[in-house]
Amino acid sequence: MHLKSLTLKGFKSFASSTTLNFEPGITAVVGPNGSGKSNVVDALSWVMGEQGAKNLRGSQMADVIFAGAGTRPALGRAQVSLTIDNTDGTLPIDYSEVTITRTMFRTGGSEYEINGAPARLLDVQELLSDTGMGKQMHVIVGQGQLDTILNATPEQRRALIDEAAGVLKHRRRKERALSK
Ligand code: ATP
Ligand code: MG
Repeated sequence: MHLKSLTLKGFKSFASSTTLNFEPGITAVVGPNGSGKSNVVDALSWVMGEQGAKNLRGSQMADVIFAGAGTRPALGRAQVSLTIDNTDGTLPIDYSEVTITRTMFRTGGSEYEINGAPARLLDVQELLSDTGMGKQMHVIVGQGQLDTILNATPEQRRALIDEAAGVLKHRRRKERALSK
């Protein structure tokens, strides 16, 4: 399994539709300060279901929508699509290529699609949950995050180990079942 492409449209500084294609192996994104490198990483977190505006370096979720720049007016919605190569069947879905799309309008919440079919956040989370990808999976190591791990309490460190061992998914399911 590897990431094939990421398309940003109206997401942060990417007003026009912009697609990045990834090859297997290491990809480096380079560019001057403020050119949008971190916004690309934010888009990856966001499309995989990130719910915290602060984790996306904003104060509210609508901050991910293009806010206007120069003569270009602000847009009403942000959309990010992530296409994953699933020829090895890592994702528990019967497609060799899987595209997750998240769309958000200024007026409301987010909509998700998996290969064009409407999906819930939960579906996206479950799809990614055994892959080491997705929200709270710590595949995205932000600046300063290593310090956080080193300074974590034993309980916080336990949560990281639970996550790495795949226990977290079952704990979440249990919590959901108990709260019904
Ligand atoms: P550095 O090398 O300093 O880390 P970077 O390439 O990571 O820079 P980003 O943080 O990705 O840069 O991009 C910052 C730019 O994105 C700023 O110019 C900011 O104005 C712009 N930006 C962020 N959110 C929005 C938005 N909602 N609408 C328009 N522009 C935005
Ligand atoms: Mg940056």
